[in-house]
Amino acid sequence: MPFYRYFKRKWLLNRPFPDRWLKLLEQRVPVYRQLPSNYREKLRKHLVILMDEKRFEGCGGLEMTEEMRVVILAYASVMILEETADYYAGLQSILVYPYDYQAPVYEVDENGFVTEGFEHRKGEYWGGGNIVLSWPEIDKQLYEDDYEGNLIYHEFSHLLDDKYGLSAGIDQNDLPIRDDEWTHVLAKAYRRLNQRMYENRDSVLDMYGTESPAEFFSVSTEAFFTKPDEIHRENPDLYRMLNQFYKLDPLRWRG
Ligand SMILES: [Zn+2]
Repeated sequence: MPFYRYFKRKWLLNRPFPDRWLKLLEQRVPVYRQLPSNYREKLRKHLVILMDEKRFEGCGGLEMTEEMRVVILAYASVMILEETADYYAGLQSILVYPYDYQAPVYEVDENGFVTEGFEHRKGEYWGGGNIVLSWPEIDKQLYEDDYEGNLIYHEFSHLLDDKYGLSAGIDQNDLPIRDDEWTHVLAKAYRRLNQRMYENRDSVLDMYGTESPAEFFSVSTEAFFTKPDEIHRENPDLYRMLNQFYKLDPLRWRG
């Protein structure tokens, strides 16, 4: 880490935490209230650093507000409470849209047919460090009680996956090509979700996770943080591995 960054972070952490941000955390970031107090303090520190270092771009005419930045980076902070992951060092910018944005699609199927067009997306991670998010989707997820999933956890976990090669141990045939416990558990859980989809059975995990091992990891992360009791019940091994990776135990946060 460059010296100036080290000193800048130190300096930032010595300043009083802004009242406005605290109000936003309390009112607009539901998970903040569920955290034990030592984690609340840690989250505030991470937030101060991320707010200083990460760049946002409002797209499609969206004017970025302080509230949007605090909400997005507060959730990003939750995931790194125990493992700072160098504060998402590879993250270049966070692009935020005022609607589900349109992503260009170009696909070639087995028979060589090409599909071109646009697809509505709520969020996306572009390898190389850019995250795209739809603000209305986040708004809906955070303030509708029965909404399942969390776009912020989803997209930021792709960054962690890239950094640590978490899903890279599973090959195209869904078989582990690395011989470690993490990879075996992930591969098994991934096959299990595919099996459930094939048999038309429900899962606590979003079926979007069947797309690829990388999507599976991100979908599992969403469930780990938003419905820990359910994922723990459905697949205790997967919960245990996520618990080891994040060094966090969201099961204990519900009070
Ligand atoms: Zn994804």
